[in-house]
Amino acid sequence: MIRISLELAVTIYLGLGLLVLIFWFLVEASRKKTVLPRNTLWQCPVCFFFYVDSVSESLSRCPRCQTLHKREGKEVEYI
Ligand SMILES: [Zn+2]
Repeated sequence: MIRISLELAVTIYLGLGLLVLIFWFLVEASRKKTVLPRNTLWQCPVCFFFYVDSVSESLSRCPRCQTLHKREGKEVEYI
């Protein structure tokens, strides 16, 4: 069994946690952010379900409730 002091054990524990946090930040910073084309995000006015329909321009069918609806004048905000 390897004997180490309590301070060294706490330092190693916190150091490993810090390394994992730094690695996570680096991975998140290097990921490419996906950007949807404009006017492809729809919100169903019946069930309020958000979905992406890149084919339809003004009419779209909700994949959840199958309601056919048209785009209203206001833009849907990207989240
Ligand atoms: Zn719907």
